Amino acid sequence: MRFGNLAGRLALITDRGAIDVCGDSGGRLPADPLEALEQWDAVLRWAGQPHGTGISYEVQELLPPVPRPRQVFAVGLNYVSHAAESRTDIPSFPTSFTKYPTCLTGPEAVVTLPSATVDWEVELVVVVGRPAHRIDGPDGWSYVAGVTIGQDLTDREVQLRPPLPQFSLGKSFPGFGPIGPYLVTPDELPHPDDLEISCRLNGELVQSGRTKDLIFSVPTLMAQLSSIVALLPGDLVFTGTPAGVGFTRTPPRYLAGGDELVSAIEGVGTLRTRFLGNNRGGSVSAEVLAKPLATDVDDNTRNRPSRTEEA
Ligand code: ZN
Repeated sequence: MRFGNLAGRLALITDRGAIDVCGDSGGRLPADPLEALEQWDAVLRWAGQPHGTGISYEVQELLPPVPRPRQVFAVGLNYVSHAAESRTDIPSFPTSFTKYPTCLTGPEAVVTLPSATVDWEVELVVVVGRPAHRIDGPDGWSYVAGVTIGQDLTDREVQLRPPLPQFSLGKSFPGFGPIGPYLVTPDELPHPDDLEISCRLNGELVQSGRTKDLIFSVPTLMAQLSSIVALLPGDLVFTGTPAGVGFTRTPPRYLAGGDELVSAIEGVGTLRTRFLGNNRGGSVSAEVLAKPLATDVDDNTRNRPSRTEEA
């Protein structure tokens, strides 16, 4: 089953349109997506019954499937290929940080770049479906309401600023968490632990991998995160990105105004994110522009249409 957020109301997405969960259940089930996740078993029972024709909608109308989660976990270095390109050791426990929930945006978002050092990271995003604390590894999927596609957009300069990297701020500018388009239940996926995942920048394939290559699988992440933190319905887990991000390239490559990312996960769909430039914006310090990568930023902006005037 797949669910979407239309105008802040949870809808079951069918071949015959979108069916409002609250309305069709006669008000028995909540309209709010987060409240509905608190009663997920009841929502699934209702969704499993026959339904009539829904309303038609455009993907552009969809909002984030979970607009206001209470906790957002993200996991760094969870693919061997990405750990290798980042020149770091393979972690023995998930390296976790948060994306502050105000960064979340929808599946067809237009994001204004705050600087010239913003990078892409396509990720499988897990939506928690029931309270979970200290769960056993193999049971992890039974605590998952569904999955969606996410972009863990990152300002590398903010993330890696000395003396200590601090991931959360650099990954939480407004619009830095596009998710969607749908919440897809695990039973809808042919192989939930082996999904093709990819990201295209202006049509060029920049990331391509499979979720079977996750160092910490979804069940393992659920077990290890919940060994410490109590997970709540609607919480998101950004599970990490495969190789192919921009900042590890030679020369580094970052997003510019006019760029378009298309992120895709097998069985889930595609997430399209467009960018408005502000590549010379005030948030980019003179110090950053003086670093070696400033040369690449110059090349970057020279070769691309400037949209600064739209920002
Ligand atoms: Zn990430």
